[in-house]
Amino acid sequence: FVIPDFQDFIKDIEEMYWTAKSITDGKVASYIPQLARANSDNWGVSVCTIDGQRFSIGDVNVPFTLQSCSKPLTYAMALETLGPDVVHQYVGTEPSGRNFNELVLDHNMKPHNPMINAGAILVCSLLKSLDKPEMTLAEKFDYVMSFFSRLAGNEVLGFNNAVFLSEREAADRNYALGFYMREHKCYPDKTNLRECMDFYFQCCSMEANCDIMTIMAATLANGGICPITDEKVLRPDSVRNVLSLMHSCGMYDYSGQFAFKVGLPAKSGVSGAMLIVVPNVMGICTWSPPLDPLGNSCRGLQFCEELIKRFNFHKYDNI
Ligand code: GLN
Repeated sequence: FVIPDFQDFIKDIEEMYWTAKSITDGKVASYIPQLARANSDNWGVSVCTIDGQRFSIGDVNVPFTLQSCSKPLTYAMALETLGPDVVHQYVGTEPSGRNFNELVLDHNMKPHNPMINAGAILVCSLLKSLDKPEMTLAEKFDYVMSFFSRLAGNEVLGFNNAVFLSEREAADRNYALGFYMREHKCYPDKTNLRECMDFYFQCCSMEANCDIMTIMAATLANGGICPITDEKVLRPDSVRNVLSLMHSCGMYDYSGQFAFKVGLPAKSGVSGAMLIVVPNVMGICTWSPPLDPLGNSCRGLQFCEELIKRFNFHKYDNI
């Protein structure tokens, strides 16, 4: 086993869970009513090792929307189907140093990276040509659902239509980003911007829970092979690219500090979820809705910092 004394490891996870549970900092996202109604007390942690050992504690079966946690996943799909050269003709690999939804492009007039809104919207426009030319919106939706599900060991994901409808209503900034990119000819030819935006909101509105998301993180930790089904879902080079950008850009404008303190690839979302990858060891998913001013889950961050105090998981430990 990759973690020989799993029972001992679980004791640490439990202690860390209870320490973080007592934190009352942060505010739940309030830009749409469905997220504003989130319960601040919810707190769940799930882990899944690359050899399939699993542990969960807290609210691990309560569904939440993926929100920005969908960004590394759609990026992975784009890499897998189109290859990194094509994808990176359209989107950069540099942290933006700005908020996730800022109206800003890089010096080449491309989105900075696929982990912020502009880049993720662009990736959604690329995914139109997935398997066969010009998939319909309905086919793309099914394709994404089943791809996410394969990453998660064939667990079934949900879709929160109320969140989708609200996202679309409260999307002035995202539309502004969409049009700004169209002005600068960022999209592939024949992109239908309205469909592309809908597709982006749909990806944000996919629903899962900690137990499901931890398997996705474990698939990334395991070089693209799902530890539950043994299916090869992603190529190793796609995984490397996804993890590199999660490492440098995954935690909004805290990414540099997170890379320094925690040293692990991770991605957070406004629903309070966090995907954390310990490469070649395990995937972790934490979920707690209250966010700090930069948009990261307060309990999730505290959990990660404590994890690194107790274990040598930081990329530059053991040197
Ligand atoms: N739906 C959110 C948005 O587009 C997702 C962003 C996030 O999770 N940070 O604004």
